[in-house]
Amino acid sequence: MGSLKIENIRKSFGSVEVLKGIDLEVTDGEFVVFVGPSGCGKSTLLRIIAGLEDSTSGKVLIDGGDVGNVPPARRGIAMVFQTYALYPHLTVKNNMSLGLKQAGTLADEIARRVGIASSMLSLEPYLERRPAELSGGQRQRVAIGRAVVREPKLFLFDEPLSNLDAALRVNTRLEIAQLHRRLAATMIYVTHDQVEAMTLADKIVVLNNGQVEQVGAPMELYNSPANEFVAGFIGSPK
Ligand code: ADP
Ligand code: MG
Repeated sequence: MGSLKIENIRKSFGSVEVLKGIDLEVTDGEFVVFVGPSGCGKSTLLRIIAGLEDSTSGKVLIDGGDVGNVPPARRGIAMVFQTYALYPHLTVKNNMSLGLKQAGTLADEIARRVGIASSMLSLEPYLERRPAELSGGQRQRVAIGRAVVREPKLFLFDEPLSNLDAALRVNTRLEIAQLHRRLAATMIYVTHDQVEAMTLADKIVVLNNGQVEQVGAPMELYNSPANEFVAGFIGSPK
């Protein structure tokens, strides 16, 4: 299970309201892409879902339960960041294992999950290396592997390909799509890239200026944009 419901989420930083009442439903197993220009509130919304940031008002429900008082580690969520956020002093294997160790998972079970994730992400040759000895694409695969071993209900990706060059972006995007098919997990993926949104999403949520402009399947938005903003954003190549 991994359904998500967001009810009237608002967020202000000081006197600036950056999320202005967001409502959204994500069903179990869905791949949902949040797309919108830089500064429109995408990362803030993801961080609120993950519990890394409190909303000013509104509710987040996971599988029907209000998670307002549930700490991030207990929400069944794993997040992947643009900057990978790996521990530089730890090997690939230990970067992937650390969260499970901290949660008290038994060594055999950790080894089993790291084995599966590193095979899925072609990381077996690199398990004893440190992040500095890896390419950007490999580092991001480690960060994705670290999310996979936690067996979350809900994956959150915050512009995971933005630091990669064009060829790696395509590869890694295909790997994420494949992962979604294999794990049948719910995934929310933030990007400002129209091609990523159109190719990955079951459903696209177009955000602008702290509000939802339109929600729909890629071709729905492409063929019937609700307004000029959506038309410009989905229609125009990057
Ligand atoms: P996006 O991810 O869509 O680029 P963000 O969610 O990062 O946008 O930011 C939305 C707005 O909120 C921006 O104007 C940003 O400057 C502001 N913001 C984000 N985090 C903070 C913070 N911790 N303190 C103050 N302003 C913030
Ligand atoms: Mg962002």
